[in-house]
Parts: sequence; structure tokens; C-alpha cells
Amino acid sequence: RTVYVNGSYVPENEAKISVFDRGFLFGDGIYEVASVLGGKLIDFPAHIARLHRSAGELGMRFSVNDDELLAIHRELVSRNQVEEGVVYLQMTRGAIDRDFLFDTEKLTPTLVLFTQSRPLIDTAVAKNGMKVVSIPDLRWGRCDIKTVQLLYPSLGKMEAKARGADDAWMVRDGVVTEGTSNNAFIVTKDGTIVTRPLSHSILPGITRAALMVYSEANGTKVEEREFTIEEAKNAAEAFITSASVFVGPVISIDGVELSGGKPGPVTLGLRKTYIEESLKRAL
Ligand code: PMP
Repeated sequence: RTVYVNGSYVPENEAKISVFDRGFLFGDGIYEVASVLGGKLIDFPAHIARLHRSAGELGMRFSVNDDELLAIHRELVSRNQVEEGVVYLQMTRGAIDRDFLFDTEKLTPTLVLFTQSRPLIDTAVAKNGMKVVSIPDLRWGRCDIKTVQLLYPSLGKMEAKARGADDAWMVRDGVVTEGTSNNAFIVTKDGTIVTRPLSHSILPGITRAALMVYSEANGTKVEEREFTIEEAKNAAEAFITSASVFVGPVISIDGVELSGGKPGPVTLGLRKTYIEESLKRAL
């Protein structure tokens, strides 16, 4: 694979990052993952807009402009012949002798991108759905910023796997915040889709936002409000959204089966709508 590091396209085993990089030492970095379908980028402008927001919240500078970012994405997709998969982008504050204090002006951001080819449409999750278990949300107070501090989500997925599930939904103050790497939705008996409103407690998912627009357009009612694990267990259906899964059916929560233990019709309809609509807008 060819990867991109600070202005150069290099073979992955020749890429170098400083041991003093603040992304490595402090988790002082942000990222984006954009999916690729048919060699084209899905929801690209929204991912770049969120990258700007994350950078702004942390006072991080950009070393490249948006046109360059699009060009780099396209170049990697082309060089690595990605038909279906993802482009991962990470930007850190840069490298400097280790110190908690930093002067952003003195730092040049580190920019790394790589691709991963893998099926996104015909997947086991799309076909069979996924099991989730609930865990307490022990993350920090700014989950709306897409930082590389992914230790807790990583441990959460490990715990889910150990408990025989595919992922975990996190709970804070008695209500579901989100999945370890996705936004959480339920479908009520009357077919309304419910997801909690944006706040500092969850990541503003690009797939979440796009799906909400497409749902309203095709007549599916959307309600933004908090819900508990108890309500979710009693919902008609449940699903998650993320850039790499799109709409992923949830078939059980803490061992309680939903929609007869298989992907529900509303969820599958929304998955189809999301893929069709986002392909129309793909770059
Ligand atoms: N929440 C969290 C915590 C995530 O890590 C992600 C994916 N990175 C999402 C939600 C989904 O966001 P998106 O649809 O932009 O991939």
C-alpha cells in the first residue's frame, strides 16, 4: 500500500513519524474516516467540515487546504485501487520536545492518510445484524470532537466481544449516548426513528446527519430525544450508523432479541436509501 505522510506518497513500510509527535505522546490528534464505494468518496464535504470543526475546537492549524485534501484522498484511492473501503485521515498538532504545554504557532501539524480496501455493502453485519451489550460511558467530556483518544472505545469493543457481542452501546446518566464507534438509533412501533440530540456527549456522525435528511425526505419520521437501554430493548428495531458500516442492524441488546433476531424492515429500508442517496452525491 501507498500511504501519505506530510506531503509525500510512500510505501507503507517506509513511512516515518517522529517519536515526539504529540499525537503519539498525548493523543493530541484528530481524524476522519470516509468510505469509498465504486472508487468514489461518500459524504466527503461533510467529513472535511467536521475535521475543520475538530481542529477549531482544539486550536489546531491546517497545513493543507480542502482542495488538496480531496486530491490526496483521490490519489490514494487511485494508487491503491480502492473500489470499496475507507480512507483514514489523521492530523496531529505536530512534533516537539515532550511538554504538556504547547505553542501551536511553533508546531507544524502532522498529516497522515492511508486506505483500507474491504467490502462495505455485502457484509455479515448487513445480512445478519449485530448484537450489542451496554457498558457505562467512561469517556471524557468532549466526545463531540473526533480525537484519536480511542482507548475506551477499543476496550469497550473488546469487552463486547468477550461477552459474545459485536459492539457496545454506552450509557451515561441513565440514557444511551452512542456506540463505541457509531451513533445509536431505535425504531418505535409506529416506525419513527429515534436518536439522541447532539451535545458534547456524542460525536456528530456524518452518516447520522445524512440519514436523518434522507429519512425525512422519504417520509420516515425522525425524533431527536434521549432513550434508555430499557426502551431500546422494547423497541421494534434498532440500528447504528457510521461511515464504514452505513446503517448496521442491531438484533439484540444485552441478550434481548429485537425484530425477531434478524435485521428489521425499517432498518434495511434505511440502509438501502442511505447507500443509494449517498452514491448519487459521491465524489
Ligand atoms: N460515534 C463515534 C464515537 C464514532 O467513533 C463514530 C465513527 N467514527 C460515529 C459516532 C459515527 O460517525 P460517522 O457517521 O461520521 O462515521
